Amino acid sequence: MNPLPGREKTGEGSIIIGKLDDFLSYARLSALWPMQFGLACCAIEMMGAWSSAYDIDRMGVIPRASPRQSDVIIIAGTVTFKMADRIRRLYEQMPEPRYVISMGSCSNCGGPYWEHGYHVVKGVDRIIPVDVYVPGCPPRPEALIGGFLQLQEKIRQETLLAPPKAVQRLMNANPELTPTANQTEVSV
Ligand code: SF4
Repeated sequence: MNPLPGREKTGEGSIIIGKLDDFLSYARLSALWPMQFGLACCAIEMMGAWSSAYDIDRMGVIPRASPRQSDVIIIAGTVTFKMADRIRRLYEQMPEPRYVISMGSCSNCGGPYWEHGYHVVKGVDRIIPVDVYVPGCPPRPEALIGGFLQLQEKIRQETLLAPPKAVQRLMNANPELTPTANQTEVSV
């Protein structure tokens, strides 16, 4: 007797078997919450990505007003030395795993200020690690959406079983902290 009559065509009631890591990655990449934060003209294009024409919400990208609830920060605009400390502090307040999208030439390398802008940091990657660079001056909302697609692919390849990035950086700087094979064994 068929316990689920009429459900063969739709697949309802089926069992999906997969790796826990894949499910967790899928959940994380489908709900990326960027922090509400903009620095200059690129921020206007960033806001456009949430308009009805581009509707980036459909990818699960929902802005949050607090770094403590955010997965990703979009550096959209000119990074002055005056703002560098604030950016660094906001980044440090985000929980791991956290990501950075650098949007536009100013944030990527100093943009039009790369030569004579004495007040401009020549790339936000000098103060925080960047995961995805979106080129352009300014990049259009489609380019930012492309940046999120790249970030999703990066997250898809990650494993939550590895130590967080901050711990990995610490272990790279201090190899003696890296656990040996015996230390990582789990006894049951
Ligand atoms: S990259 Fe261009 S559009 Fe973006 S903040 Fe710099 S000057 Fe403005």
